[in-house]
Amino acid sequence: MPEKIDCAVIGAGVVGLAIARELALAGREVVLIEAEDAIGTHTSSRNSEVIHAGIFYVPGSLKARLCVEGKQLMYRYCAERGITHKRITKVIVATGEAQVAELGKYKQQAEANGVNDLQMLTREELRRIEPEVAAVAGFLSPSTGVVDSHALMLAYLGDAENHGASLVLSSPVQSGRVTGDGILLNVGGTEPMTVVCNTVVNAAGLCAQDVSRQVEGIPAATIPPTFYAIGHYYTLTGKSPFSRHVYPIARQDWHGVHVTVDLGGRCKFGPDFEWIDRIDYRFDESREALFYETVRHYYPGLKDGALQPGYTGIRPKIGGPSKLVTDFLIQGEHDHGVKGLVALYGIESPGLTSSLAIGKAVASLVGESQ
Ligand SMILES: Cc1cc2nc3c(=O)[nH]c(=O)nc-3n(C[C@H](O)[C@H](O)[C@H](O)COP(=O)(O)OP(=O)(O)OC[C@H]3O[C@@H](n4cnc5c(N)ncnc54)[C@H](O)[C@@H]3O)c2cc1C
Repeated sequence: MPEKIDCAVIGAGVVGLAIARELALAGREVVLIEAEDAIGTHTSSRNSEVIHAGIFYVPGSLKARLCVEGKQLMYRYCAERGITHKRITKVIVATGEAQVAELGKYKQQAEANGVNDLQMLTREELRRIEPEVAAVAGFLSPSTGVVDSHALMLAYLGDAENHGASLVLSSPVQSGRVTGDGILLNVGGTEPMTVVCNTVVNAAGLCAQDVSRQVEGIPAATIPPTFYAIGHYYTLTGKSPFSRHVYPIARQDWHGVHVTVDLGGRCKFGPDFEWIDRIDYRFDESREALFYETVRHYYPGLKDGALQPGYTGIRPKIGGPSKLVTDFLIQGEHDHGVKGLVALYGIESPGLTSSLAIGKAVASLVGESQ
């Protein structure tokens, strides 16, 4: 007989952990099922760790709403729990006159998203605060920050476990079936098990579509296509020449390679953007020349030999080259018709920033599907 459990959350990345926390806090009995032998080893530990303000997202989208809400929740949570973070701020810069109008467009979009604290900067003002940045104008985003994502994930896990949740590692969900009595999952790994769940949350990140396809009874038409886009990071040797994150206005051929300053005062450039056809984190060192060229558009002081290969991350995309901008896709029963199932797809940036807000949104969908 399969074991009966209340809620299974598939995937212990930052999003699955935040969801497990929220459901456990709401009094649900939660089992968090993770394929790897540790939490957060995929996208959640291969990102920029930026707490995003909410500037770049289409007004009214889930990304816009959950980012702005998530940012506020995140700052409060980190302060209460003593998680290392900093409102380091960010400048968004135009490197040529032709881009200045775009700054205005971003500002308008940000305001439509409820981000009302942006400050326009002249060339002189920019030079005063970021002397190494070559740009003609920009704006400052005071609410952009950086967070220790590992400490954050451990705190989510701690909260969930303190409220009765359990984590099973090295346990990939391999198949399943929607039954009249709940959703059955076959879990592999060293201690295989079969469980029947009242609620299943699919938060498997890059593998979310695969997991849904493996569960008989989830209508195939509701599962979005899968695309992967890798991003490389190069680190700069020595102390950061910038005091805050620096984002150039993205030009098509640049793919918006930006600077993020970490909590230790060092900086990295990236991520770039390249479509790939499978999950493969290998670092392609042939990107180096492109990075030097791209970065020097706004940081002409970059010295030869200063960049070191860092790491890569892969964006879980649900739109391909013909549909670059997509929203988070969070489906409840009214979307796919399966009682007790919430499925999350395309949780790319700003998923880290949005994690607490996603947790709340999913808990509310779970509540509707009782
Ligand atoms: C390059 C890059 C930079 C980014 N920068 C930022 C940023 O600065 N700020 C920001 O807010 N966001 C950023 N993001 C987005 C953010 O990192 C993600 O939205 C977030 O980490 C997604 O978390 P997740 O839990 O959904 O996915 P993941 O972290 O990938 O977790 C999914 C988990 O599911 C597990 N899993 C998969 N299949 C199975 C299975 N069959 N059974 C059980 N478990 C399974 C995996 O092992 C994994 O642990 C960035 C993303 C990328 C790619």
